[in-house]
Amino acid sequence: MVRPAEIQIDLARSAGTATKGDQLLRLIRASQPVTRTELAERLGVDKSTVTETIKPLVSSGMLLEEAMNGGSQGRKRRVLSFAPSNDYFVGINLGVRHTQVGATSLNGDIVDESDFETPKSADSALRIVRERIAAITSSRNGRLPNVIGVSVPGMTDANRTGLLFAPNLSWRNLDIASSLTTNNETKVVVENDATAAAMFEARVRIRDSETGLMSNFILVRSGTGIGVGLVIGSEVYRGSGVGRGVAGEFGHMTIVAGGKPCVCGNRGCWEKYASAASAASLYMGDRPPKGNETVPKFVEIVAKAENGEVRSQRTLEKIGEYLGIGIANVIMGIGIPRVVISGRLVYAWSFIEGPIREAIGRSIVGKIDGWSVEAGEPVGSAIGGALEVAVDEYLSTL
Ligand SMILES: [Zn+2]
Repeated sequence: MVRPAEIQIDLARSAGTATKGDQLLRLIRASQPVTRTELAERLGVDKSTVTETIKPLVSSGMLLEEAMNGGSQGRKRRVLSFAPSNDYFVGINLGVRHTQVGATSLNGDIVDESDFETPKSADSALRIVRERIAAITSSRNGRLPNVIGVSVPGMTDANRTGLLFAPNLSWRNLDIASSLTTNNETKVVVENDATAAAMFEARVRIRDSETGLMSNFILVRSGTGIGVGLVIGSEVYRGSGVGRGVAGEFGHMTIVAGGKPCVCGNRGCWEKYASAASAASLYMGDRPPKGNETVPKFVEIVAKAENGEVRSQRTLEKIGEYLGIGIANVIMGIGIPRVVISGRLVYAWSFIEGPIREAIGRSIVGKIDGWSVEAGEPVGSAIGGALEVAVDEYLSTL
């Protein structure tokens, strides 16, 4: 019989080719300035392993090791950080409604951020993205980005160069990498938006934690649709074989038999009941607006709820309940009881948290000690995730 722990190890192996070296660089980036001793403790390896791994990067000038105050008995301690450089990375979050474009350095500050309404046509969207990248490049005297990370609201191909299908945009089989690169120097990596958000949240949580890498969690990204990112054994899990790039499409699991029709062709999909976008429909009583009625945006529903409007509060509570029902299903399937919520829905956290917890508590997952649900950072589900994809790819090639 295969025990769950063995399955997890298998999944982690099939997730990618990451090594301790990748994890070490991620840890340095997330927690810099940091000492070799701290790195060794947090990764559970010998200090000599850390020293050997970083040696070439310190000699090449990529990593700096400098004396800093704060050692024991008034001594200075030697800390590692990435050296300032002209390297930079571009992120593009191709959203169903809006697309964000931005750039960052290895140190993580977001610059040159702009956004535009996503056109219906994929060709038009990619044309605008190319123009924005050209503007960023020319503002750096023609210096090209090292990597371009693109987050997309759907499944990617196994090589992470294109989009297979984005149901909410009706876009299929887009070769995004070829469309965006005009040179051989810049690599383009295309990632599912929930996976990208999971990579972002993993880094934020490494930074904020005292120990280790964030090894196992489920990220639920709820905006126009719902996507799920999986981090297993400190690596994102994308699926395997022909299914690589497909894992995490839980937004289209059926949650209500014969329920509301979905863009994917099915009925009763989770995202029709628990996405930020579904709140507007629920608020309107699931009927088209009459006369001069307007359909509120999600942030407007949150504002009304904060102002005490009962209808908005009930709407958000219902969304929270459906979200919790789906999350319990995902936890049962994957066996990882730590969940981070990302996307526009986090703006309504004070209204949805209680109903989410109640719904999970009612399920069989509620019988497990130690399950947790927490809110992520809104930027992670937008430009932050796309930039994370670009930088993470770069670190994996060092
Ligand atoms: Zn669906």
